[in-house]
Amino acid sequence: RKFVYDFSEGNKDLKDLLGGKGANLAEMTNLGLPVPPGFTITTEACKAYLESGEAPAALRDQVSEHLAALEQRMGKKLGQADDPLLVSVRSGAKFSMPGMMDTVLNIGLSDESVHGLAAQSGDERFAWDSYRRLIQMFGDTVLGIDGERFAETLDATKSARGAVTDVDLTADDLKELVGKFKAIVSEETGRDFPQDPREQMDLAVRAVFDSWNGSRARLYRRQERIPHDLGTAVNICSMVFGNLGPDSGTGVAFTRDPASGQQGVYGDYLQNAQGEDVVAGIRNTVPLADLEQLDKASYDQLMQIMETLENHYRDLCDIEFTIERGKLWMLQTRVGKRTAAAAFRIATQLVDQGLIDEAEALQRVNGTQLAQLMFPRFDSNGGLKDADQIGWGIAASPGAAVGKAVFDSYTAIKWSRSGEKVILIRRETNPDDLDGMLAAEGILTSRGGKTSHAAVVARGMGKTCVCGAEELEVDTKRRCLKTQDGRVVEEGDVVSIDGSTGKVYAGEVPVVPSPVVEYFEGRMHAGADDADELVKAVHRIMAYADRVRRLRVRANADNAEDAARARRFGAQGIGLCRTEHMFLGERRELVERLILAGTEDEREQALGALLPLQKGDFIELFESMDGLPVTVRLLDPPLHEFLPDITELSVRVALAESRKDANENDLRLLQAVHRLHEQNPMLGLRGVRLGLVIPGLFTMQIRAIAEASAERKAAGGDPRAEIMIPLVGTVQELELVREEAEQVIAEIEREHDVELGLSLGTMIELPRAALTAGQIAECADFFSFGTNDLTQTVWAFSRDDVEASFFTAYLEKGIFGVSPFETIDKDGVGSLVRSAAEAGRATRPDLKLGVCGEHGGDPESVHFFHEVGLDYVSCSPFRIPVARLEAGRAAA
Ligand code: PEP
Ligand code: MG
Repeated sequence: RKFVYDFSEGNKDLKDLLGGKGANLAEMTNLGLPVPPGFTITTEACKAYLESGEAPAALRDQVSEHLAALEQRMGKKLGQADDPLLVSVRSGAKFSMPGMMDTVLNIGLSDESVHGLAAQSGDERFAWDSYRRLIQMFGDTVLGIDGERFAETLDATKSARGAVTDVDLTADDLKELVGKFKAIVSEETGRDFPQDPREQMDLAVRAVFDSWNGSRARLYRRQERIPHDLGTAVNICSMVFGNLGPDSGTGVAFTRDPASGQQGVYGDYLQNAQGEDVVAGIRNTVPLADLEQLDKASYDQLMQIMETLENHYRDLCDIEFTIERGKLWMLQTRVGKRTAAAAFRIATQLVDQGLIDEAEALQRVNGTQLAQLMFPRFDSNGGLKDADQIGWGIAASPGAAVGKAVFDSYTAIKWSRSGEKVILIRRETNPDDLDGMLAAEGILTSRGGKTSHAAVVARGMGKTCVCGAEELEVDTKRRCLKTQDGRVVEEGDVVSIDGSTGKVYAGEVPVVPSPVVEYFEGRMHAGADDADELVKAVHRIMAYADRVRRLRVRANADNAEDAARARRFGAQGIGLCRTEHMFLGERRELVERLILAGTEDEREQALGALLPLQKGDFIELFESMDGLPVTVRLLDPPLHEFLPDITELSVRVALAESRKDANENDLRLLQAVHRLHEQNPMLGLRGVRLGLVIPGLFTMQIRAIAEASAERKAAGGDPRAEIMIPLVGTVQELELVREEAEQVIAEIEREHDVELGLSLGTMIELPRAALTAGQIAECADFFSFGTNDLTQTVWAFSRDDVEASFFTAYLEKGIFGVSPFETIDKDGVGSLVRSAAEAGRATRPDLKLGVCGEHGGDPESVHFFHEVGLDYVSCSPFRIPVARLEAGRAAA
């Protein structure tokens, strides 16, 4: 197998094999840009090494061959005593990863060749400084010696010499330092610093391989859902030096601003320095624009290369470069990371420049970024600049939250009940904290990553969360938070947390609404001259998405207000109106009367009282969605949800009885509660089962829908109601409901002398329904997949419990990368959706298919629903823009 590729042999599409860095070095080489020659060891070699614990036999020979070719090209040998070729060894996985070994520079220097380097460069100080750096980096990253030992020794030497920075050290100082560093190596490892250059190189390569399995790298991959079996490539690159004097230097650059997308000169430059000096912040960099004064020729060439790269990659690139005695070298480039706002702006800018088309622009953004732009945020023009940042953790759930610090759930609940806004601060959370998390504006923890309990649950609740802010010490006993520099945030002090950046501030930071939401709400117009650039970009991208998408997008909404917002956000109807939400508040009592009804008469009365209220709800809903479909689902939840809690009621009745003043109603209620009590209510008397055993209940709802439709029609409206039956498991259930429905509807049509055009369909949310979808379709005009219940029943995961109880452990163990309640489980639940859709359409080719579970607004799931051929997705109003965008991306 071929384990080694010369830079000239690869290209940018070989990231799996050559890693991101290697693939892009190859691409630049082939573009004719000045890249120092070198070669890349493939991820395959790394995988083979990690599997067997030994580098594959062929690797050594192939490296020798490529090294020989490199030496010939450079006219000198690795570590050659009188004129050494030096190389850097750098890791380069497919995805860039903190926690991986980064770079060892100056491989090839030894006690002997350091003199050769001094002679060739004419700079003795430079040569010894390079050797010093090699031992330090090699000792730290390859030999695993605590870096502090070198840093302390360097500092001690500097202060002994009265040197402010390391540039002030002389050649002799550095020579002495090399001696000390070598002594550290011998002391710590029991052997001398290796003098054989090839051995140095091989050890460094092996260290890169090993770093793939370092604990920080593994943790990062788990959090970012990067597979553990990709392995890393290793790049061996001939050295160029930015530290050869004032006409040398090193820098980083972006082809445009990664924060705003604006074109211009963005970057930093450091004169007379090597790469790690920039990162270490040892000396101050200057803005890249200043390079024009320092070295006009290199600056002009760099500008030209940046343009070439942008045009070639057709995207924002970031770059590392070095100038050696006036000659520019490109050390790295990649398509650069950017903020969500910049992603939208850059995509439209590139369309305007003619570099990409609209379909490509859609691939340059995603729904997660759009969702991020829709959260309120801290005011970057106002308070944020002066905000007092006290810590930084993992951005676990977006949004900006401000409130008083509380350190336990009890206090969170108590304070929030009295109207205070609170931030719940815990070392980590557990299921006991759920109520406190619900009560809080946001959650801050000092431990745990993106899959910790706090992060998973907060995302589920839509709460802002920063987790794993490790430099903050949470003291729950003393109810305070200590910062690294010794400051203390006490209970009741205001803190602000940013779930999009992970930053934590003391005091109140002002929050502003998202301009993108203002735009969707119609309060800001993209066409206005002074419209925000971001809003203009979002407007254009949404238009592309709407133009190409095949999936329609509907809303889950049960009141006129939500429906109206959904419509402003672009909903093309309602995919799920949960009628149980119409029976809350004061109306709950009417349902209670229905449940307690002992006689036919009492039941009729209770239903009679509910009918006009239901009808009124539907009229409002049909009006706000006039001309668009509205799927009304008949009552679904178990009835006990409308009755008092069994324990509370039992206590109340027992107390009353002991005082001998128990009231008749409470006693009847308690009887009913006992009668309806179920061990597994989710698998009990709910959905269509309720409709079949409680006479008149579904009939009342169907009547309300039909009468509301008739009234809207009479008023000149265009109602398009669809009646949906929940929790169907067999076609017989649906047949019974349909028979009754058709009678009621026919009666009302006769009465009002109209044709209502009502359709009747079912949710597919039980495995049996999915498995017998072909039969069920004979009796249904449409299917709507209830992927919440379908996930619950296919996995036997209680949707109300598992996310807070054991999902954290499952996520950490990698059993799944994301909760199946969040992103559709394609292999299990998804395959049922796919086969049920096919079976349904086989029976009835015009069967309308949709989904109304939470997955309808999840980016990855939307792509899946597109692929299996559904007609629409339905999601909460706020997620509609995300679903529109992803439906467009899926089709583009
Ligand atoms: C579902 O089960 O996916 C669904 C949409 O219904 P509900 O969430 O109301 O059970
Ligand atoms: Mg359901």
